[in-house]
Amino acid sequence: MKRVESLAAEPDGLKAYRAQLKQEGRTPNWSTFRDEEPDAYRELREALIRTQHGLCAYCEINIHDTSPSQVEHYLPKSKASRNEPDFDRQLDFRNHLACCMGGTSRTTVRSLSEKRVDGDDYYHQDLAASQSCGDAKKDHEPGNAVIDPRCLQLQHKIVVVRPDGTIHPDKAGCAASGISVDHVRSTIDILKLDCYRLTYARKKWWETLRRKLPRQSWKPALLPHVFLVFLAPNSNGWLERFFSTTRSYLQPAGAEAWLALHSTAQQTINDGL
Ligand SMILES: [Zn+2]
Repeated sequence: MKRVESLAAEPDGLKAYRAQLKQEGRTPNWSTFRDEEPDAYRELREALIRTQHGLCAYCEINIHDTSPSQVEHYLPKSKASRNEPDFDRQLDFRNHLACCMGGTSRTTVRSLSEKRVDGDDYYHQDLAASQSCGDAKKDHEPGNAVIDPRCLQLQHKIVVVRPDGTIHPDKAGCAASGISVDHVRSTIDILKLDCYRLTYARKKWWETLRRKLPRQSWKPALLPHVFLVFLAPNSNGWLERFFSTTRSYLQPAGAEAWLALHSTAQQTINDGL
C-alpha cells in the first residue's frame, strides 16, 4: 500500500445527480446512482483511477485501460454514524477510492486461454483464498484497523515486499511515519493483501524486475532514469503496477533517498493531472 491522491473536486455528473436528488427529496443511494447514471458513474470511476495513476488504492494492481475495476467506499456504505450528519457515505466523493475487483473478476486485457488461471492477477478460482481489497474488507469499519491510503506520505515506506511476493509492515518506515506496525499488519490482514493471488503476482513482478533491471546494471549514472521510469507516473499519468514491490526491489539502489527528494515534486505533478 502506498499513498494515493484524493480527488481535487467532485466530478460534474455526481454533483448534478446529488443536486437532482435534493430537489426531488430522494434519499441518496449508491446502487440507484450506478443504475440510473452509468455515465456519471463511469466519470467518477475514471477520475479516481486517473488520480490514483491507474493503480488499485489498496493492492496496486493496474486498473486502467480495460482492466476490471470498481468504486470502493472507504467507510462502508451500508453503515452510517450519527456523528456524520453532513457526510453521505454513499455518494460523497471523499469516501470513494478506485479499486480492483478483489479477485472476483477476470481481466479483459489478455486472453485467458493464453495463461494459467492461477497466474491471473485479477482472478483466482478459489475465491476464499484469493479475495482482497474492498471485496475482502466488505462492511468492516476501517476505524483504526485499515489505513486510508490518502493519509499516507509518499516518502514513507510502510510495507516491504520480499522476493517471494509476501508483504509485511516495514518497521523503520512505520516508525518514521508515526504509524504503528500493528496498524499496517491489520490493514494487510483485513484487505488480504497477502492472499495467494496477490503474493503470486508480486513474486512474478519481482522476477520481471530482476530480468529487466539486474543488480549488475545499477550504474549510478543510470539510476535516476530507472527510478523515474519505475517509480514515477509516465507521460500518460500511469504508474507501473505494484509500486511497493518495485520500491522494495530498488531500495538497495537508493530508491528511498530518491523518493524522499522527489516526493514533493511528484505530488505537485499529481495535483496538476
Ligand atoms: Zn486491489
